[in-house]
Amino acid sequence: MDSFEYNSNPSRVVFGSGTLQKLPDEIARLQVNSPLVLSTPHQINQANSVKDVLQGQVAGIFTEATMHTPTHITDKALEYAKAQGADAVISIGGGSTIGLGKAISIRTGLPHICIPTTYAGSEMTPILGETENGLKKTRSDPKILPGTVIYDVDLTMTLPAAMSATSGVNAIAHAVEALYARNTNPIINMMAIEGTRALAAALPEIVEDPTSQSARSKALYGAWLCGTCLGSVGMSIHHKLCHTLGGSFNLPHAETHTAVLPHAISYNAPNIPEAMKQLADALPDSDGDAIRGLNVLLAKLKVERGLKAFGMKEEDVDKAADIAVSNPYWNPRAVERTPIRELIRRVWAGEQASANL
Ligand code: NAD
Repeated sequence: MDSFEYNSNPSRVVFGSGTLQKLPDEIARLQVNSPLVLSTPHQINQANSVKDVLQGQVAGIFTEATMHTPTHITDKALEYAKAQGADAVISIGGGSTIGLGKAISIRTGLPHICIPTTYAGSEMTPILGETENGLKKTRSDPKILPGTVIYDVDLTMTLPAAMSATSGVNAIAHAVEALYARNTNPIINMMAIEGTRALAAALPEIVEDPTSQSARSKALYGAWLCGTCLGSVGMSIHHKLCHTLGGSFNLPHAETHTAVLPHAISYNAPNIPEAMKQLADALPDSDGDAIRGLNVLLAKLKVERGLKAFGMKEEDVDKAADIAVSNPYWNPRAVERTPIRELIRRVWAGEQASANL
């Protein structure tokens, strides 16, 4: 076995069905008594159920969490937290709400309890992306990592089937890039394979029957493992491309990850034979071919594959290719403009991924 380094990201995880009811114990464990509850406007009911579980013992509810964590919203939430004397933050929602929780926690030192309701994985990472004057900046700091994560399968039952599918593929993308990360290690490798296996089995079941408790449970478990991969090792071309495309052309996060993933893997395939084999083994119906496995999975999930459906224009393909090659980063295969442009064109058009990039 090759030498490796492994850093565990210390956070406490409470997993299961109905685990929201354990929140009072977690609050007592942290010795706080006046948490501020965060959500999007869309999830106000779930924020209210947090307040109910705590028998009204909250500093308040702030329901303005927004995609890309704009700093003016964070400032508003900070003012409210201070005025209400909050001594902790509880974020209930997806990556957008968790981002706001991280932004408050890193500025104030308040403990952060996360209750994730999507599969995006932000709760497992020490990474925060924030937007100021339209510019998104990402930073990493161990203090950003939320200290407590409560995964309650019941709260994911309301995630619509289409969003469950793309959010789940977003999670698989973390695991896939962890398989070939420069600083990967055997522990993360195990989590990546197990997480992919769980999500690839559960997501088609959820699309068929969004009320399946067992499929929801398996998917959330997979999302936890994949989020851990994202928080532990470096990501490369897939995540960089999604960041470029999402940020430059205002494209939706999980849907962009879903459209890009099979093509990003095709691009790297010649340089990552071992990861391709491991990925193929984790994907049902792959017949030993990871690209085929992803194509079949996306077909079963009935997801939109072309970014043109989300408003990306054909002339943006060249712009995106220019941006993609302008910031050098490590990738298993050198990032070259001609094949990258073709990759982006295929993603824009929604073509099936194939190995000839
Ligand atoms: P999101 O948090 O933006 O949620 C999308 C919508 O779904 C929101 O309206 C939300 O209220 C709603 N929703 C969430 N859970 C629901 C549920 N169970 N039932 C019904 N509606 C529900 O989406 P996301 O994909 O989870 O997060 C995307 C954001 O998170 C992006 O800004 C991305 O950059 C960030 N992110 C950050 C990290 C990190 O490590 N820092 C990791 C992953 C994603």
